[in-house]
Amino acid sequence: MLRQMASSHKLAGMNNDSLLKRIEAKRDEVVALTQDLVRIPTTNPPGDAYEACARLLGERLQKRGFAVEYIRAEGAPGDRDSHPRINVVARYEGQPGGECVHFNSHIDVVEPGSGWTTDPFGAEVRNGRVYGRGTCDMKGGLASSVIACEAILEEGLPFAGALEISGTVDEESGGFAGVGYLAERGYFSRPRVHHVIIPEPLGVDRICLGHRGVWWGEVETLGRIAHGSMPFLGDSAINHMSAFIHLLETQLQPRLSQRHTTEPVEPPGARVSTLNINSLHGGQVEQLFSLDALNRPTGDLPSPVVAHSCRAVLDRRFIAEENLEDVKAEIVAMLEELKRSRPGFDYGIRDIMSFVPTATPQDAPVVLATARAIARVLGREASYISSPGTYDQKHIVRTGKLDACIAYGPGILDLAHQPDEYVGIQELVDSAKIMALAALSLTSGSQVARVG
Ligand SMILES: [Zn+2]
Repeated sequence: MLRQMASSHKLAGMNNDSLLKRIEAKRDEVVALTQDLVRIPTTNPPGDAYEACARLLGERLQKRGFAVEYIRAEGAPGDRDSHPRINVVARYEGQPGGECVHFNSHIDVVEPGSGWTTDPFGAEVRNGRVYGRGTCDMKGGLASSVIACEAILEEGLPFAGALEISGTVDEESGGFAGVGYLAERGYFSRPRVHHVIIPEPLGVDRICLGHRGVWWGEVETLGRIAHGSMPFLGDSAINHMSAFIHLLETQLQPRLSQRHTTEPVEPPGARVSTLNINSLHGGQVEQLFSLDALNRPTGDLPSPVVAHSCRAVLDRRFIAEENLEDVKAEIVAMLEELKRSRPGFDYGIRDIMSFVPTATPQDAPVVLATARAIARVLGREASYISSPGTYDQKHIVRTGKLDACIAYGPGILDLAHQPDEYVGIQELVDSAKIMALAALSLTSGSQVARVG
């Protein structure tokens, strides 16, 4: 490994100093690109303005010599004519014989919500930061990756392999029409792609190797409908659900909190298994046809019935030391126990979504190259983390069968999805430098060895 580092430093040499200077001079450009991207409100759901954002990116990269493809996820969940799921993939071919580095960013953002002191889609610059929805998660990272690749090309540095940049949709809602759709079509597999960097906002000196697993399941308890004034004539599905939730809280959750992982999940509170009840729906569906005095939808008076159905969506996050089958079996065992012990208890259960934990090996070239670049640009060692939640890496690993994938990008993760989200301008510049050095060393490898 020492030899590898030495040779990559030699390759770095003068050219890389000039590359870093060039990126430093692009401070205003990376800010402007971040602003342009943020000002397109790609809110998901419902998936607004995806095409405008994809085209902004595609047209820019096409002018710089990239071959650009727009790929609509026809037939994928969420795709419809009013809100087409349009992804963009841009590829710049270097000399033959090298490997391809792909920067993948999602272009969708979550709704702004309330509590902002600035226009969420205004992209205002204040105190060395760009403010707005998606600055941190993750249009800032996208801008940094674009600037990184453009700087390499402007320097005229010869490299073998290819640079790819994609802007993909729907990451915030599972990524099935985005990276999931592209992965099924070979966009995230060898031999097309060898290394993937996802510029999610993990922090400018941190490399995210993977994520915990997830199982989303819906549990329904069943009851018998009756008049609400005579509940003894029915059987309340809500009461049955309450018994189940009681077990989750008193038995399962304490057990999960004792299951520790050795993976470096951040924040450390997530280095255990967890369970959240994402939602609960019991009894009648509220009708919202009437309006109150302020013209807001309000519930009409419900009718008195005993609930015959109650549904809970469970969000179970599991650690590398567990497996999906056991995670589900543990829940089913609790439901079966209730069926035995609680009169009238009956249930249904269905899978909504699952992904197993992933972790890219710490000695994978994409990890080593990024760590070297962090040390060079920031003068400190990289730290390695794992994410409590999943992101598009799950599709790249499962469907693309590529485990050479990391998340690395500017921004503070805690600011994602918050009001007054921002990204630091220095971080945009630093991470662009780091991405450029990493990409150059991963693409050039073999060719530079021959030249040297
Ligand atoms: Zn994100």
